[in-house]
Amino acid sequence: MKLDTHAIRYLTSEDWRVLTAVEMGSKNHEVVPTSLIAQISGLRGASGVNKSISAIAKVGLIAKVKNAKYDGYRLTYGGLDYLALHSFSKKKSVYSVGNQIGVGKESDIYVVADDTGKQYVLKIHRLGRISFRTVKTNRDYLRKRNSGSWMYMSRLAAMKEYAFMKILYENGFPVPTPIDQARHCIVMELIDAFPLRQLSTVSDPSTLYSSLMELILRFASMGLIHGDFNEFNILVHEDTLKPIVIDFPQMISTDHPNAKEQFDRDVQCIKTFFERRFRYTADDDGPHWSDIKRVGKLDIEVQASGFSKKQWKDLEKYMKEVAPHGDNDSEGSNDDDDEGEEEEEEEGGEDEDGAATTEVASEDNPRVWETGRV
Ligand code: ADP
Ligand code: MG
Repeated sequence: MKLDTHAIRYLTSEDWRVLTAVEMGSKNHEVVPTSLIAQISGLRGASGVNKSISAIAKVGLIAKVKNAKYDGYRLTYGGLDYLALHSFSKKKSVYSVGNQIGVGKESDIYVVADDTGKQYVLKIHRLGRISFRTVKTNRDYLRKRNSGSWMYMSRLAAMKEYAFMKILYENGFPVPTPIDQARHCIVMELIDAFPLRQLSTVSDPSTLYSSLMELILRFASMGLIHGDFNEFNILVHEDTLKPIVIDFPQMISTDHPNAKEQFDRDVQCIKTFFERRFRYTADDDGPHWSDIKRVGKLDIEVQASGFSKKQWKDLEKYMKEVAPHGDNDSEGSNDDDDEGEEEEEEEGGEDEDGAATTEVASEDNPRVWETGRV
């Protein structure tokens, strides 16, 4: 989905209030009735409210939905993006949005800058994007549960990712510096390194391999399993071969019933990649689950950050039942080739599907556009 920020400067304070009102109304209404939007926004006079509704609908931040019972509006991903950017801009963590540097199955990655020109990475979580497009039952799943909507799930993914990045950072793990989080977005340090997948050769595979295995063990010793520890989620400085780990929405505790399985999978991912890419096989067949020496409990501590056990469970349930997770099964996850067939099937669709439609329709657009001030 193209993040088009051009209209953001032209929104009035009333427009922002109306947009926020649609967001608030969506918490318990799939389609927010116009009268409720007016009420929540607290604006006096129907004409002002209607003017703002037309203005933000025109730039695609909300979409009109004709319901059997009443007409109303729903927030689009574009609207949620604007709200998040508005909040970053107020807190001065983002001043402008630049190029898109990554498209995952359920996220978009952009370079952004603060008002001094310092660059960061903005990760926008877009849960539901793929599931809406592929399997109808997934769509139904999300629609049935209000708290299971794409917006709630995307926000949970951002909260979880931020909470983990923060606690890992504070405990000396090589992860990007976390900067800020709002709604379904996070801002973090821009790492000047490539994903391991893009390196065709390395000067010293055995050193890199050992440091990655040590990292997996270090995560586990602090009570955490990354769960998606692969060549897409490890950025490596070409000269120093220092790895930096990203992408945390699927992290689990070492006390989780699947912990051993995920630990073994993380280890195996690296082994397989090193054998295939660098023809490197370690002498040692470990590390094994039994090698973990538990010294800390970041899995417990992270809950003090505001990311609760319930939220962790809600997100996990979604990921298990709906999300096609893992970069692994998305060979070339930066291409759209495996998704072409469902494209735009929902054009003009109802309810939440529309959110997917808007994104799909614009996904073929060039991924580079002018830097936009927010
Ligand atoms: P997803 O959940 O969609 O897999 P990731 O967090 O793994 O998203 O990011 C996708 C890609 O974006 C990465 O493989 C990497 O190329 C790039 N990327 C993400 N975060 C950063 C960062 N902090 N610095 C530099 N590149 C990044
Ligand atoms: Mg990833």
